[in-house]
Amino acid sequence: MSLKVIGHIAPDTDTVCSPIAYAWYLTNKKGIEAQAFVSGTLNKETSFILDHFHIDIPPLLTKFNQGDQVFIMDTNNPDELLPGISDATIRGIIDHHKLVGGLKTEEPLMIHMEPIACTATIVWNMMKRDGVIELPKEIAGVMLCAILSDTLKFTSPTTTDTDTQAAKELAVLCGEDIDTLSEAMFAAKSDLSGMTTRDILTVDSKVFEFGSKKARISVLETTKPANAMAMLEDLRVEMTEMKSQENSDYVFFFVVDILKTEAHLIVATDEEKEIAEVAFGKTFDHETMILPGVVSRKKQILPVIESAITG
Ligand code: MN
Ligand code: MN
Repeated sequence: MSLKVIGHIAPDTDTVCSPIAYAWYLTNKKGIEAQAFVSGTLNKETSFILDHFHIDIPPLLTKFNQGDQVFIMDTNNPDELLPGISDATIRGIIDHHKLVGGLKTEEPLMIHMEPIACTATIVWNMMKRDGVIELPKEIAGVMLCAILSDTLKFTSPTTTDTDTQAAKELAVLCGEDIDTLSEAMFAAKSDLSGMTTRDILTVDSKVFEFGSKKARISVLETTKPANAMAMLEDLRVEMTEMKSQENSDYVFFFVVDILKTEAHLIVATDEEKEIAEVAFGKTFDHETMILPGVVSRKKQILPVIESAITG
């Protein structure tokens, strides 16, 4: 049976594009039959990218079944994987997030994790070590886009020289200009038309357990923060709704201004306010807090929120 290569739920560009590239590599260079899948509806940035490089959207998977052979990318967190993951056979993991634990296998597996900005960087370096020097334009292109997306065009503090170097090499291989391509990607990402407040709050959203507390941390990366900020009141109502529906203790929403490299934090209740004021050492102006330089959930948001919650 063909290996299912797949990333996390609430798919972002890296979690869609890295499986496409890795499945191509396994099938064409390693003789392992593999196919990329997605765990949810694509965001507008990713849709733009696949359209730009004329790649079909990978088939949607909604759960894993007994007997599925699975390769996981861009997460190692069972809570970010489709239901049924414990019934599937995990053959490998390639990721760049902290190790949270919880996944179990019957047999040894390949795991490659690095503290760098993007899964696609790891995949490209793997291919290079294996002697790959040329790629189909679209495969190089989607890996480049994954790196540009995860690094916000090298502005995120998660960016390493390894990521920047990989992006430059991939740009040459696909013949794309990094500035032009990023601009088009970020414009697509910033288009909120047709999106409900719930869509906006869940386009890039993760739930974390901090001690006994459950926190949802949502991010919206945009070049036009004013579009989201204009919906402030509706967003806050929806956040309160989400909180009670899913029994979260906290919901935080960060509107990340890609161009100004700053975040606007939106909260719905005083519970989040208190945590955020401790976490960031600032006070709220009305219902928002502006955080200069903050763009990375992984590096700049999670650790401070976690320590504020767990005290
Ligand atoms: Mn991701
Ligand atoms: Mn990633």
